[in-house]
Amino acid sequence: MLKNGIRTCARGLHTTRPLGAFSLKSTKLRDSSSAARPQKKGSDAGGGGCAGGEKSLKKDDGPARTRFAPSPTGFVHLGSLRTALYNYLLARHTGGQFLLRLEDTDRNRVVEGAEENIRETLRWAGLLWDEEYTQSRRSEVYRQYADVLLDQGHAYRCFCPKERLDALRASARRLQPPSMASYDRKCAHTVSRAESDRRAATGEPHTLRFYAPREYAPFTDVLHGTLSLQTQVNPQDVRYEDPVLLKSDGLPTYHLANVVDDHLMGITHVVRGEEWLLSAPKHAAIYAALGWSPPQYAHIPLLTSANDRKLSKREGDASVLALARTRGILPEALVNFVALFGWSPNATATPNLDTATPYSGTATTAGVGGSDAEVFTMDELVARFSLDGLTRGNAKVDERKLLHFNQHFFRRRLADADARMQLIQECHARMQTAVSSDEADLPEYKRTDISYTTEVFNALQNNINSVMEFVDRAQYFYRLPTLASTTADTVEVLTRAATLLDDKFDPRDLCDTLLQQGYTKRQVFSSLRHALAGGVPGAKIPDILAILGPQRSKSRIDRAISLCK
Ligand code: GLU
Repeated sequence: MLKNGIRTCARGLHTTRPLGAFSLKSTKLRDSSSAARPQKKGSDAGGGGCAGGEKSLKKDDGPARTRFAPSPTGFVHLGSLRTALYNYLLARHTGGQFLLRLEDTDRNRVVEGAEENIRETLRWAGLLWDEEYTQSRRSEVYRQYADVLLDQGHAYRCFCPKERLDALRASARRLQPPSMASYDRKCAHTVSRAESDRRAATGEPHTLRFYAPREYAPFTDVLHGTLSLQTQVNPQDVRYEDPVLLKSDGLPTYHLANVVDDHLMGITHVVRGEEWLLSAPKHAAIYAALGWSPPQYAHIPLLTSANDRKLSKREGDASVLALARTRGILPEALVNFVALFGWSPNATATPNLDTATPYSGTATTAGVGGSDAEVFTMDELVARFSLDGLTRGNAKVDERKLLHFNQHFFRRRLADADARMQLIQECHARMQTAVSSDEADLPEYKRTDISYTTEVFNALQNNINSVMEFVDRAQYFYRLPTLASTTADTVEVLTRAATLLDDKFDPRDLCDTLLQQGYTKRQVFSSLRHALAGGVPGAKIPDILAILGPQRSKSRIDRAISLCK
């Protein structure tokens, strides 16, 4: 179904491969040795447990299908925007598709407004998606695969009450060494399948657990190579990770829904944060149990600030849209900035895993703030992006670079009539919020008139590099400036200026006339800037006079004179 150009619902997804067509392994995954054989990319047969396989993706490898799969548990911040961007770039670079999938099956954690924030942020950044899916609307699909895993002996129902599970967790933690897995498989060992079916039929609350292999098969990651990540257990008191696939509310957990969807949606590559690395072996085991082959994974490093501290709220955790709004950051600038957190446009070869030098994100070629060699539009990023350029070191966020990019793209927009108009509109909207009607010293029809803001913008555009700078530097066009007291020599030239303006004088000629009358440049310009603009630099004095007009100019000058001590 196409809705607003976005294909919604799961049409066709669960029918791309009818259930009966799966070649399911009958071997129990408790013995993982047979599931550890690497398998060829793209092959569904064999049930190998090795994710990925090939390290890099070249254009010729065919279209990639990627997805951004956020949980709507918060607003999009810099880290998640980067994940979305890399997946987007990979899809566009290869002529593939980019999907948006809302992973919202943990209903308790869903935050109001988060879904809309995700869509709005992606649209704002220009990361338009080809298809959209919402996991909470697909419960039936996951249930079918949960049944398959149950029927094939890869999963079992667990009826243990919460108190028992809590106690098991606590005791696992107390073991020496502690066990990260806590469940003792009581229900697997003591509840027969027939009894399990009976109890489930009476509505007894339960979860469905996956039989985790005793040892997870190694898997391959584009950035990290082949990894064998195991869960720590205590040899004297062996517990099992046995991840829950279906919760007692019947909804799938992240693990099941993520695997089923990536497979059914034909996802070929998953770029996601390193925090998901520990899930990868579990996912690989679930893929193997279902007889599927996993996508290629690239787990990208965490973001840190330029001096290697955890990112502060302002730098990293803050919502992208809030950051952009409060600081006047343009989407092109933020996209450029975020692209370079962990991706280097200059890398031509697959990163050498032993010697990879992390791309620091701080300027190397251009001193403070980065160089124009690092400026890329979205089209340029699409053309250049490759997984080969991903770097393994923690990506450092250096905000000077963001400001540099913002200036660059701001100036670029000025050269394009439509983009320039958009900037003016944004400046106008921001100014309306910054200066309310009761603070303004100009008639309401003028304050809200975009052509007035256009005049102001024209006078300031060479002196500002962002929408926020406009708001900072142009407020005196809308309200009386804050004035420090006026000095005696200033009063003299201002008094002369006020007299001239009284004579219906063209305000544009005021400076020249005063200069001709023997006042120095410093006297004329700094006195008038003080009186008219509260000393705020930027616009030229004749432009300020022309925009304010003779009457407003004169009354500001009179006000300054009256403030002489
Ligand atoms: N829902 C997970 C998240 O919020 C997705 C992780 C993944 O990409 O597999 O990031």
